Amino acid sequence: MPDAVDQLIEVGRKVVATGLVVGSGGNLSARSPDGDACWITGAGTWLDELDRSAFSLVRIGDGAVLSGHPEPSTEVLLHLRSFQARPDAKVLIHLHPQLSVLLDAMGHRIRLVTTDHAFYVQEVRRVPWYRPGTEDLARAAAAVVADGCNCVILAHHGCSVLADSVELAHKRVLNLEEAARATHAALLLGEEVPECPRPPQVWPAARASAPVSPS
Ligand SMILES: [Zn+2]
Repeated sequence: MPDAVDQLIEVGRKVVATGLVVGSGGNLSARSPDGDACWITGAGTWLDELDRSAFSLVRIGDGAVLSGHPEPSTEVLLHLRSFQARPDAKVLIHLHPQLSVLLDAMGHRIRLVTTDHAFYVQEVRRVPWYRPGTEDLARAAAAVVADGCNCVILAHHGCSVLADSVELAHKRVLNLEEAARATHAALLLGEEVPECPRPPQVWPAARASAPVSPS
């Protein structure tokens, strides 16, 4: 059975193949089984050319590189601070999806139109622009996910998506960009689009294994 790193390698191929990002536009991480460290893509790695040697094992508490690729992604602080803020999160996908970033830059809120958008994305928040790779960006993004939000737009840059599994994180980021596409279409039609209802009693915290997951 593939572990989280194998699954992230596959996600890297898919997000590039489907046009969600271009080449090296993002970085991926998953907690180690003991929870104290995470495997994260190395600096300069291309998402569609990942193998196990492309990942660094980094201690979440102090950022020490424990093994693997000697130089973790330049965005490693984003991953470490988010994992510190969210002990329940096991995976972080940071990508540069073009339409989500464009709509946010133009001041448009991404609408959650379909059942899938509402179920997987649940809520979209944003942080203003900070220089990529900085502690400021990492702390701002971590602060807005601390209470359980899983999807953040990093202005003029990308998104940060959290989940407790690789599969759910992948579905979340796909649905985030798909919601941006739907929002874009609605804006072109010039009408306000109603959003899918999200009463909390109907939509418990989305889990990949949840029996109520829509198909
Ligand atoms: Zn980035």
